Amino acid sequence: MIDSHAHLDFPEFDIDRAELFAQMRLAGINNVVLPGVSALHWRNQLKVAEQYQCLYALGIHPWYCGHAADIDSGLKSLRTLLLTYKDNSQLVAIGECGLDKLHKSDFDTQLKVFTAQIELAAEFELPLIIHAVKAHEEVIKLLKILKPSKKGVIHGFYGGPELASQYVNLGYKVGVGGLLLNDNAPKLQQTVAQLPLDSFVLETDSPAMTPKNSQNRRNTPLILPDILQKMADLQKKSAVLISEQMFSNVTQLFDL
Ligand SMILES: [Zn+2]
Repeated sequence: MIDSHAHLDFPEFDIDRAELFAQMRLAGINNVVLPGVSALHWRNQLKVAEQYQCLYALGIHPWYCGHAADIDSGLKSLRTLLLTYKDNSQLVAIGECGLDKLHKSDFDTQLKVFTAQIELAAEFELPLIIHAVKAHEEVIKLLKILKPSKKGVIHGFYGGPELASQYVNLGYKVGVGGLLLNDNAPKLQQTVAQLPLDSFVLETDSPAMTPKNSQNRRNTPLILPDILQKMADLQKKSAVLISEQMFSNVTQLFDL
């Protein structure tokens, strides 16, 4: 298994990161993708990626796109970093980037920073890891106009089959995480039950998105087998088959 989205570089994991990676290996979770968040996070993210040999993406999260005046310098640093690491095989995507209408950061600034990162994805021929909250119409419109060649994933997807199909028809995957384990997420459960299996990749968004019924405060990639089992139940297929298909989807998405 590969967790396509886990922030294991975050300070929540400073106390037991080595132990967690060891537990993950025992549970058959061979790799994770550490998504990029902001210029302030990149250095430590790259350090963790190097130390544990994990995959990573570089990008600016919509929550961290800053003020209008900071946009150019942030994007310039991102492009410089991409030029430095472009030949590193652990760099697999641009992101996470996107649009979030529930967050206070200025929406016009978010639009500019997201658009620039779609252009970087085209320039560096990398897929996108997209964070989209209450802004699917705008995200779909931009993807249709800019048509980045390597497509990407709509991470932390929470919508129904109709919305998911719009992304899948454009060539994007849908990232399914711990929300699937919450019984009050019927739309996502319908999506997983109805769409073809090659539409999905597995993720946890650790340390965020802890499933509601969990005893733990912190989410970790160790819940991946539970998400797989829930997908298998919804698709009425075996967990082994789902696991093989999810592995093939993630390797295809990130060109591993
Ligand atoms: Zn994330």
